[in-house]
Amino acid sequence: MAENVQSSNFVAQRPRFRYTLARPVLGEQERDYLLEAFDSGWISSAGEFILRFQKEFADYIGSKYGIATSNGTTAIHLALVASGIGKGDEVLVPDLTFISPANMVLQTGAKPVLVDSNKDYWGIDVDTIKQKLSERTRAVIAVHLYGHPVDLDPIVELCNSKNLILIEDCAEAHGALYKGKRVGGFGHISCFSFYGNKLLTTGEGGMCLTRDPSIEEKLKLLRDHGADRKQHFWHPIIGYNYRMTNLQAAIGCAQLQSLEKRIENYRMVGREYASSLKEKFGSHVTPHPEMPWSRCVFWMYTLLIDSLDPIKRERLRSYLAEEGIETRPIFYPISKLPPYQGDAEMSNPNAISISNKGISLPTYEGLESTDIDVITNALHELVVNKL
Ligand SMILES: *Cc1c(COP(=O)(O)O)cnc(C)c1O
Repeated sequence: MAENVQSSNFVAQRPRFRYTLARPVLGEQERDYLLEAFDSGWISSAGEFILRFQKEFADYIGSKYGIATSNGTTAIHLALVASGIGKGDEVLVPDLTFISPANMVLQTGAKPVLVDSNKDYWGIDVDTIKQKLSERTRAVIAVHLYGHPVDLDPIVELCNSKNLILIEDCAEAHGALYKGKRVGGFGHISCFSFYGNKLLTTGEGGMCLTRDPSIEEKLKLLRDHGADRKQHFWHPIIGYNYRMTNLQAAIGCAQLQSLEKRIENYRMVGREYASSLKEKFGSHVTPHPEMPWSRCVFWMYTLLIDSLDPIKRERLRSYLAEEGIETRPIFYPISKLPPYQGDAEMSNPNAISISNKGISLPTYEGLESTDIDVITNALHELVVNKL
């Protein structure tokens, strides 16, 4: 994940962390498949693991076609270009999220219009979307933030009634459930990231999923230099090279086999944090959300602390770092970042208040309840005595 400006000192201290923010678990299966791919000689972007990973991941999510990409950001770019988004169009994007969806909208020449958060689950909702609709709106990128699904039914209905393209950004929510179904099967296209801190990792990597064979064709064409597969070096359109390697896909196939187990583990971590925080802070914190209609996968356990503001938070984070605990601030609203400032309409009160008070804690497979106690004890101590 890209570091934000204010944490640049933080990186140098990383070896000191007893509790890192995230930690991929790579096992025997990952190693075996990786060596199998290596030994086959198919180390570039052709090979059996690519086809297998695309199919198995699409099946797991409950979609039809998988198009593996070099990372989650290129997956989003492909989804936008394949949807015909460009100059003159507006695309609704959450104000509170990782930067890449907004950047990729700009990359197409379209305008990202930043949408406020739902105050209960922090992602966008149908009402905050409606506030920003215009004649030019062509698409919505719904991000399932921090492992929590957005309330999809009313969003899908709105998009259908207004003829808008719905792109799901599932980079933080592999395997999360909305009303019992996995996110990533609801939009016209969904995009995943397999970066090192995500629930399923291939190092770098990503994927687009779709049920529509004509969109699948477009996505593949765009990903592979716009090259006509029947006629060598014939490029009917301008494309990219956004491919994943067979080596990455080999790791992905193995990671997929352990994903449900890992989700159970993250959910256990989520429950432990929630009860431990409640015991120590009472009602002075807002735990990581989990709405009754969702199964959150707690990508990075994130809470709001009433007494926090961005300055106190940086102080808190450096104290925690001294205790060997790595943290992240919640995302800054994109509307506050230099390339996006200056549009008064963009002000989103829920996104701002969530962003001011949020902090993410270490979340990974293998974090035990005793570790969680150490972390929440340190957090409570510091909040009460040092802020
Ligand atoms: C991680 C992430 C991405 C980008 O994925 P990369 O693989 O790092 O390019 C996009 N959107 C969200 C919400 C993310 O968290």
